[in-house]
This record gives sequence, C-alpha cells and structure tokens, in this order.
Amino acid sequence: MDVATARMRLESMLAELDRSISVLRGDPAGRDRSLADAGADLTDADRTRAMLDAASRQRTAVLAALRRLDDGGYGRCVDCGTLVPEGRLEARPEAARCVQCQSRAERRR
Ligand SMILES: [Zn+2]
Repeated sequence: MDVATARMRLESMLAELDRSISVLRGDPAGRDRSLADAGADLTDADRTRAMLDAASRQRTAVLAALRRLDDGGYGRCVDCGTLVPEGRLEARPEAARCVQCQSRAERRR
C-alpha cells in the first residue's frame, strides 16, 4: 500500500472515530445506533463505555500511524523493525507491529 493511500485511509478512519466518539459521549448532533450492536450482554452504560474505550484506543493507534507516515517509519514494526506485511496493513492500516510482536504485546497486557 503506498503512503498516499495509507494516509487517506487513516484520515478517513480518524474522521469516523471522531464522529463515533462524539456520539458515544452524548453529542446529540450525530446520534445513531449503528455502534450499539457490539456486546449485547452489557448494560447500555457499560456498552457505551466499552465502545468509547475501544474507539479511543483505536484513535490513538491511528494518530500514531499518521505520525509514522510523517517521519518515514510507517509500514515497519515499531518493536522489531521488520516490514509489516502488506495484507496486514490493508486490513489494519493503523497496525504498528508485525503479527508476532503484536501477539507478544497483547500477552503483556
Ligand atoms: Zn515485530
């Protein structure tokens, strides 16, 4: 994926996340229920908080990816420096790590 495409996709993800976050925070301007399907067994408040958490985390990841585009590090794993496979970036343009380092990072949590 070339840098211009990556930037375009990341910027549209960022706009979408900003919209979702303002909806989840109760901004009446853009309220819709399209995000409400995730986690059906949670109460509304818990569900909203969980979605807000996930959206905020993803927003942070997208911003970090945009920074890596600016400084030329985009597409390389932030942990081991190998190239992140093209298919992974297609699926998740904000991915910061290769699959191996990502699963290691998730086990650390
Ligand atoms: Zn790695």
